[in-house]
Amino acid sequence: MLEAACYCGAVQLHCSAAPESVIHCHCGQCRRLSGAAFSTWVSLPREACVLSGADSLSVYSPTPNGRRHFCRACGTHVFTEDARMPQIYGVPAGLFSEAAALHPSQHFFVSHKAAWHQIGDALPQRGGASGYEPLASG
Ligand SMILES: [Zn+2]
Ligand SMILES: [Zn+2]
Repeated sequence: MLEAACYCGAVQLHCSAAPESVIHCHCGQCRRLSGAAFSTWVSLPREACVLSGADSLSVYSPTPNGRRHFCRACGTHVFTEDARMPQIYGVPAGLFSEAAALHPSQHFFVSHKAAWHQIGDALPQRGGASGYEPLASG
């Protein structure tokens, strides 16, 4: 069981399935919305997730396809839905209490990453205009 929660604890998400993927995203949207160099996303099968405290959530759509749900009380970004992948909840990795279960596999949007951040691991890197093209340096 994976457990995620917002900072104040009003919103909690439990998932009985393993993540479908864990990736680092260096796109400008993730950087601005998180305030950090990049966001680490855990993709969970929505059907295996139970959300509690949803009445504390507000939603913001940065793109026509994306809906970012955040806690109104503490501001934590709890999960994102994407209309192109409705079966997935995208949850920021920092919300999970059991960090050992999370294994990032690659970097996306590396061509868009913050110039002040240096990637310090050997995971595959993807970027280019789409953000998903394999990079020679990766
Ligand atoms: Zn909260
Ligand atoms: Zn991103």
